[in-house]
Amino acid sequence: MTHAHAIDSREVAAWLKGAYPGGDAALFAQARLVQDELVGPEVRLRGLLEVSNYCGCDCLYCGIRRNAAVPRFDLSDADIGAAADQCVAAGFGSMTVQAGERRDQAFVERVTGIVTAIKERTRSERLPEGLGITLSVGEQSTSVYSQWRAAGAHRYLLRIETSDPDLFARLHPARQRYETRVAALRSLKATGFQLGTGVMIGIPGQSEEQLAADIIFFRDVDADMIGMGPYIPSRAAMFAPVSADGGGAPPSADVLTPDRSPRERLRLTLRMIAATRIVLGDVNIAATTALQALSATGREAGLRAGANVLMPIVTPVQARGGYQLYDGKPCVDEESAACAACTPWRAARAGRPVIRDAWGDAPHATTSAYRKGDQS
Ligand code: SAH
Repeated sequence: MTHAHAIDSREVAAWLKGAYPGGDAALFAQARLVQDELVGPEVRLRGLLEVSNYCGCDCLYCGIRRNAAVPRFDLSDADIGAAADQCVAAGFGSMTVQAGERRDQAFVERVTGIVTAIKERTRSERLPEGLGITLSVGEQSTSVYSQWRAAGAHRYLLRIETSDPDLFARLHPARQRYETRVAALRSLKATGFQLGTGVMIGIPGQSEEQLAADIIFFRDVDADMIGMGPYIPSRAAMFAPVSADGGGAPPSADVLTPDRSPRERLRLTLRMIAATRIVLGDVNIAATTALQALSATGREAGLRAGANVLMPIVTPVQARGGYQLYDGKPCVDEESAACAACTPWRAARAGRPVIRDAWGDAPHATTSAYRKGDQS
């Protein structure tokens, strides 16, 4: 079969360096072959709603980290309801609810309330189970994950950011531990969520070997969904003091100053998408907004390299400016309706049909055709 491929991380690292036989065009073509065979050509859509930028974490690179000097917002119930209705009307079938990370009881209950309300509001003949809901609200306890799963969310995105513990440690204050992040991923899987993870690509000092190891990590945690994007610097993050254990000074410049050009990070991200598709097969892979920050047609290029998910932003326009994880985020001035129309147009430009009115789960999560040890 086209996807049969013994996995060797040295070989993957070579692809990431541009040494795939026949070059990048051949790498992307192979990824598309695997995709057509295992997940089909259809693009799955999720409305991305950024509900709040309050955050208790202090990830050094992130524009909404705790110490970043940005105004904070929380969407109202009315805004959230309107965004859900808009997803239904646009035929998206699924929604991703993302926010900064908090662990207090009020936040936990708020998320439960949001999930419950979206589900109640969006059940219809067209969508008997309502919108599919992906949560992306960080590291939580197993019991919190269970509560949100029971409320009706069924997918969860939590990026490992990098699978290299030393690089992870450089990017986060000491109290945000790599081991805790990995434990949260395992707990999500055990709770019955479809699991999404991913990394940033082109972090200063990050090697192709580390990125190849990231793909093996995705396989080993049995991820169903992958969301990856280029690392893009944020001035709000660069100049903010680091929490307690960092002594209150801003991060040192070498931690956050890219050592690859935007072009190189874009190319590397596309190679990562293709390599992930070839190695993992039947998972969902997003062409993320950050790709479009580096190139006006970055998301289309992601689709051509093996991605099969687009996440049009449905955050109300007045809140968008508050959710800038990195500088130059696209679509910040767009009305949601514009994004709703633009996204299928991008899929069409990449020559791809879109799935409407369905959750669009990855075959990996719903069938066992391409599991570990069954790749012959
Ligand atoms: N709090 C949620 C999600 C918010 S951040 C969580 O913890 O999962 C979502 C993602 O944005 C992060 O996982 C990170 O990979 C990405 N991100 C943050 N800052 C970034 C930057 N400067 N460049 C590129 N991606 C960034």
